[in-house]
Amino acid sequence: MDTLFRSLDLIEPGDLVIYHGTLTDCHGLWLAVPCPCDLCRAMDRMGFADVRFALVDPWGELSGPVHARRASITRSAASA
Ligand SMILES: [Zn+2]
Repeated sequence: MDTLFRSLDLIEPGDLVIYHGTLTDCHGLWLAVPCPCDLCRAMDRMGFADVRFALVDPWGELSGPVHARRASITRSAASA
């Protein structure tokens, strides 16, 4: 039940998240921001619930995965 509960947590822009999606090289801690690409913004405007995020390095040195699905990230306990 704990896992289910956590999966319902909303992720706000700027939250620290753990990425655990398909790009295993990118697994780890990132800042989640709304994906800025045209496709994701268009889907957002159309009201799709599957919000995508772009992940950026908290220290501003790297850019991470984009279009990350909500299911691929978990809000980090460090941000709570
Ligand atoms: Zn995107």
